[in-house]
Amino acid sequence: MAEQNLIKVKGIVTRSVQYKENDKIITVLTAELGRISVYCHGAKSNKSKFLTPTRLFCFSEFVLTRKKDFYYIKEADYIEAFFNIVNSMDKLFLGQYFLEIINEISVEGERHDSLLRLTLNSLYALSNDMAHFDVIKSAYELRVCVEMGLSPYLLGCRECGVADEENVYFDVLNGNIVCKSCLLKEENSLEERQTGMYLPATKSVIAAMQYVENTKLERLFSFQLTEEALKLFTNITEKYLLNQVGKSFVTLDLYKEQIKS
Ligand SMILES: [Zn+2]
Repeated sequence: MAEQNLIKVKGIVTRSVQYKENDKIITVLTAELGRISVYCHGAKSNKSKFLTPTRLFCFSEFVLTRKKDFYYIKEADYIEAFFNIVNSMDKLFLGQYFLEIINEISVEGERHDSLLRLTLNSLYALSNDMAHFDVIKSAYELRVCVEMGLSPYLLGCRECGVADEENVYFDVLNGNIVCKSCLLKEENSLEERQTGMYLPATKSVIAAMQYVENTKLERLFSFQLTEEALKLFTNITEKYLLNQVGKSFVTLDLYKEQIKS
């Protein structure tokens, strides 16, 4: 008998939930189909060949069938597993935060080629300690916003256009920058002007943001900031992303608790 239509995709497991005694329902971010849910019969069992490729953080190749709104697993092989992430709590929470973001912003039925590549590159960097955690986290947050079509406007002050001010403010609500003198004027005439939520930034922070917006994914984490500037940078990217998504993330809170201790 002819096999039902088989669908072959590669994707990263972004959520894995036990169902009944031995089954799992996983969420997978794929390039071709966007975010999909896959029913994995028996995958919870230690003897199952699906046990590893359906684990959280696994980038696997899947052969699936589709019935109504659900995909069913037929075959699966893992390609890359980012196992190092689970070796430390701070990496684990940060990696889970990345996956939570994906589950929030990705869509079924839409192509997500660059979002998938961004996530794989970032998890790889995290897994292999390729940059400071704050660099990976911030670059990921900001680049996710770019992927959502929400690139901030950073070429100059939104009011006067001046581009080389040393100290500026990033407006989290509107995704643009304002120089100090324009912001002061603004406070005097709030009624006529855009109200916003302003975070301090410097020239080097804005330059790093422009770099992250525009650079090739392979070079995403290759920028340098002083410790002070990195603090401003991470403050901006996190608040900007959370504001655009319109929610907070439990794993982000866990990550912050973890790095404090
Ligand atoms: Zn200005």
